[in-house]
Amino acid sequence: MDHVPCPFCGTLDYAQTIRAVFNEGLSVTKGSAVSFDPSTGKLVNTFYSSETRSDLCTRLTPVVRPGGMSAHAFSSFFLLLLLPVTFILTLLVFKTNPSSDLLQWVIPFALMVPPAIGVSMVLTPICMIINYILRSNSRIQWDTSERIYASSLYCHQDDVVFDNEYWGIPEEYAYYMFHR
Ligand SMILES: [Zn+2]
Repeated sequence: MDHVPCPFCGTLDYAQTIRAVFNEGLSVTKGSAVSFDPSTGKLVNTFYSSETRSDLCTRLTPVVRPGGMSAHAFSSFFLLLLLPVTFILTLLVFKTNPSSDLLQWVIPFALMVPPAIGVSMVLTPICMIINYILRSNSRIQWDTSERIYASSLYCHQDDVVFDNEYWGIPEEYAYYMFHR
């Protein structure tokens, strides 16, 4: 595909595909160098990294791929849901009143927490699979958008992303690509 020039500088001289920006961003060199400081007579350790490039990558990062919700997110959700449910179940099963005697419900509740965690560990992979299947259409859509997005150009001079039809600042452009 032939690219139109940048809408601001009118050239492709400062432009790079988003894919290329990311490829470079991922191989950013981080490291340290040891040098000798003659004034103190000591060796100095200097850390260096290319922060600008990774900031740009952050700004250009698209929305999360549908169905890619992490196991961490799911298990946090279940734990948040299961703990109050466990608490209510404890009160019902042991027919105790939380205001009467603290120990009468604290121990049963503590005993029911491990099974609740176990249940969330079983439900997490099941829900991840269901979420993955249910979101398959939006995932196909996302993949199409991602292909167009990755081959769009970023102009380093004007801080603008553009393709043959549309242009915008990175955040705007990414939003447009994945929400149209
Ligand atoms: Zn430009």
